[in-house]
Amino acid sequence: MLDYRFIKENLEAVKANIAARHMKADADAVVTLFDRRTALVTSLQSLQTRRNDNAKAMKGKLSDDERKALIEEGKSIKDEIAAAEAELASAEKELENAARQIPNMAHPDAPVGKEDKDNTEVKRVGTPTAFSFEAKDHVQLGEELDLIDFEAGTKVSGVKFYYLKNEAVFLEQALIMYAMNLLRKHGFTPFITPDVAKEEILYGIGFNPRGNESNVYNIEEEGTCLVATAEITLGGYHKDEILPKEKLPLFYCGLSHCFRREAGAAGQFSKGLYRVHQFNKLEMFVYCLPEESDAIHQKLREIEEEIFAGLGIPFRVVDTCTGDLGAPAYRKWDLEAWMPGRNGGDWGEVTSTSNCTDFQARRLNVRYKDDDGKNKFVHMLNGTAIALSRAMIAVIENGQQADGSIKIPAALVPFCGFDVIKPKK
Ligand code: AMP
Repeated sequence: MLDYRFIKENLEAVKANIAARHMKADADAVVTLFDRRTALVTSLQSLQTRRNDNAKAMKGKLSDDERKALIEEGKSIKDEIAAAEAELASAEKELENAARQIPNMAHPDAPVGKEDKDNTEVKRVGTPTAFSFEAKDHVQLGEELDLIDFEAGTKVSGVKFYYLKNEAVFLEQALIMYAMNLLRKHGFTPFITPDVAKEEILYGIGFNPRGNESNVYNIEEEGTCLVATAEITLGGYHKDEILPKEKLPLFYCGLSHCFRREAGAAGQFSKGLYRVHQFNKLEMFVYCLPEESDAIHQKLREIEEEIFAGLGIPFRVVDTCTGDLGAPAYRKWDLEAWMPGRNGGDWGEVTSTSNCTDFQARRLNVRYKDDDGKNKFVHMLNGTAIALSRAMIAVIENGQQADGSIKIPAALVPFCGFDVIKPKK
C-alpha cells in the first residue's frame, strides 16, 4: 500500500504508474476519500474541544437553569461525537480499501511493457545444452526412469498433481539441502513454515485470496488459506512489530509446500511439472532499512545465480516489465533456465526476486525505530532460492544422456548419494 499523502501529492505519477502496470485502480477516489477523512478528523476535533469547554464550564458557579442547559448541551455533544467517530471509522475503512487497490510504484529502470515478452534479458550464463540425440522432455524421462507418476497423481488428487518416486525423491531432497546449505553460508536463518495462513496475512502480502480469479485455495470455514509461497508466512512473521534497527537486515529462508489453483493454466507451456497445483519451494525473505533494499535485491539475485550456476544449468536473467510486476513489486528479476524438452528447447522461469519496498510493510504494519525516534516502515524483499518442481525439470532435462540415463550435477551428489539415474532393468 502506498502512503495516502504520497498518493495525493504525486497523483499524476501514481496514475501513470497504474497505467504502465496495466492495472485498474482509482487513485482519484483515494484522494477524495483522504480529503473527506481529513475533514471528518477536523470536525471531530472541534466537537472534542466543545466537549472540553462544556466540562470546564460545568465546574464554574452556575444557576440551576444554566447547569441544566450545560448538561443538555453536554449530552448532545456526546451524541454528536459518537456519530462523528462512527462516520470517521467507516471513512477510514473506505479509504484503506481504496488505497489497497493502488499498486506499488515501479523502479524507474523497470522496462515498460505489458507482458512477459516485454521483459528484457540482462544476462546469460552458459549456453543452451546441445545433444547428439533427440532430447526428451521431463515427462517422458520421468516415466521411462520411473521417477514421476502423473497418472496416479491425477487419479488420487486430480490433474496437475503427481507423485515423485525412487531417485527423484532423493534428488528433490538433495536440491533442498544444496540450496539450504548455500543460504546458511550467506547468513540466512532457516525456517520450515506453516502451510496455512490467515486471510489477513495474504491481503497484507498483496494476495487477493477471494474470488474466482484468485490463485489461492481457501479453507472457507476457517478464514485461512493454503499458502502459495513461504513469502506469505515469512512476511507475516513480524506483523505489527517494531523491529530494533540494529537487528536489520534480517535474512530469512523458509521451506514450504506451495499450493496454487492455476485456473485455466493448460497447454504445452504448462506441461508436466512446470505448472502444478502443489510443489515445494525454499524462499528467501528479507526485512531491511529502506536505504539498503536496492543493494539487497541485487544480492538476492546473485544468490539465485550462484545456485543455478553451481548446478551447471544454463540460464538467463530477465528484468520484469511493468505489466508483469504484479501489485507489490517495485522491481523484479527472474531467472529462466534452459529446458531442452520445453517445446523443443526453451527458457523457463525458475526463480523470481522482488523488492517490494514498504508496500507490504505498510499493510502488515512492520516498522523499525529510526535514530530520530520515529517509527518507520521497513522494506521487504523476497526471492526464490529453489522451486523444486521447476529445478527438477532443469536438472533432469539438461542431464539426459544418449543411453537414456540422467547425469546428476556434481554439487548434488554429496546430498543424494548417486551421480547418475539409470534406466531400470
Ligand atoms: P512466484 O512466487 O509466483 O514468484 O513463483 C516463484 C517460483 O515458483 C517461480 O519462479 C517458479 O519457479 C515456481 N512456480 C510458480 N508457480 C508454479 C507452479 N504452478 N508450479 C510449479 N512451479 C511454480
